[in-house]
Amino acid sequence: MGDTIFGKILRKEIPAEILYEDEHSIVFQDIHPQAPTHLLIIPRKPIANLAEAQDDDRFLLGHLLWVAKQIADQLGLQDYRVVTNNGAGAGQTVFHLHLHLLGGRPLQWPPG
Ligand code: AMP
Repeated sequence: MGDTIFGKILRKEIPAEILYEDEHSIVFQDIHPQAPTHLLIIPRKPIANLAEAQDDDRFLLGHLLWVAKQIADQLGLQDYRVVTNNGAGAGQTVFHLHLHLLGGRPLQWPPG
């Protein structure tokens, strides 16, 4: 897959408000927050989206969800949403896999 803005954030070529990093993932603030808490959890591995993940990415996918839980716990969030947009028709604009962690306000369903 080609480079993305998230690749530049990973390589620290452009700034981001990074809250957490480990060998597999980083977490940073979304630049256009849609809720009081709006974080992005991304793998260091450049995977375009969930559909592009391979069988050998299954532990990494679980790790990303685990990181979302750790961060939500640390922030004291009880009601929150973790979502990934897969494909332009689902709202994906950056083609580096990411989980959105949203919380801090009532969240409607369905999201639209
Ligand atoms: P999606 O539309 O699901 O692909 O989500 C991409 C998200 O990345 C959006 O919520 C954007 O606000 C966010 N975003 C885009 N550029 C940046 C950036 N430089 N730093 C942080 N978040 C960004």
